[in-house]
Amino acid sequence: MIGSLLGNVSQRAKSLLYRVSLVMKPQVVFVLGGPGAGKGTQCSKIVENYNYTHLSAGDLLRAERSREESEFGQLIDNYIKEGKIVPVEITINLLRKAMEETMKKDDNKFRFLIDGFPRNEDNLTGWDTVMVDKADVKFVLFFDCSNEVCIDRCLERGKSSGRTDDNRESLEKRIQTYLQSTRPIIELYEKHGKVRTVDASRSLEKVFADVKVVLDKEG
Ligand code: UDP
Ligand code: MG
Repeated sequence: MIGSLLGNVSQRAKSLLYRVSLVMKPQVVFVLGGPGAGKGTQCSKIVENYNYTHLSAGDLLRAERSREESEFGQLIDNYIKEGKIVPVEITINLLRKAMEETMKKDDNKFRFLIDGFPRNEDNLTGWDTVMVDKADVKFVLFFDCSNEVCIDRCLERGKSSGRTDDNRESLEKRIQTYLQSTRPIIELYEKHGKVRTVDASRSLEKVFADVKVVLDKEG
C-alpha cells in the first residue's frame, strides 16, 4: 500500500520534472565587445568546455544573406558593408528560430551564448518585446578591448576571412556604430549590475582563463 503510494508520488514527481524540463526557459548570456574583440573565438572555447550553444547574430545574418529565397539578402548585405545595424525584426526572428530548433532537437540544450547582440536600442527593444517572457538573460559577457587592437585584429582577419566588412573603410564605420550604439547598451546593463567584463586585449588563453572564472561562478 505504502509502496504503491510512494511509487505513485515518485511517478508524479517524475512527470512534473518532465513537464518542467519541457518548459525550461532558455538561459541567455549576451556576448558583447567591439569588432574583433574575440567574441566568436571565446564563444567556441566556451562551447568546448561548457553546455552552451553559440549563436552569432552576425553569422546568422550572413547565412540569411546567402540563402537564395531570402527577401532580405540585399538589405543585409548593404547594412553589413556599411557597419550599420540590421532592423531587429530580421535578427530577432533568426535568433528565435535558431533557439527553438536547438531546443527541439535536445531539450537539455537551453543555455545560449548570443554573440554580437543586442547592439543598439532597436535590438534591445525588439528583444524585450519578443523574448521577454521566452528567455532569461543571465548577464552580459563583455570583451573589453581598445579600438586600436580591434582594428588590427580585424585587418589581420580580413586577409583570410573573406568578410566584406573586414577592411579599413567598413571598420571605421563599425567602430563608430559600436561606440555610438552598442556601448550605451552595455552601460545600461552595467547599471543593473549585469555586466561581467573581461580584458580582451590579451592572448586567447589568458582571456579564456578569466572567462572560466566568470562561468564557473555563475555560468
Ligand atoms: N549585425 C547586425 N545586427 C546584429 C549583429 C550583426 O546588424 O545583431 C551586422 C552589423 O552590420 C555588423 C555585422 O553584422 O557590423 C557583423 O557582425 P559580427 O558580429 O559578425 O561582427 P564582429 O563583431 O564579430 O566582428
Ligand atoms: Mg563575430
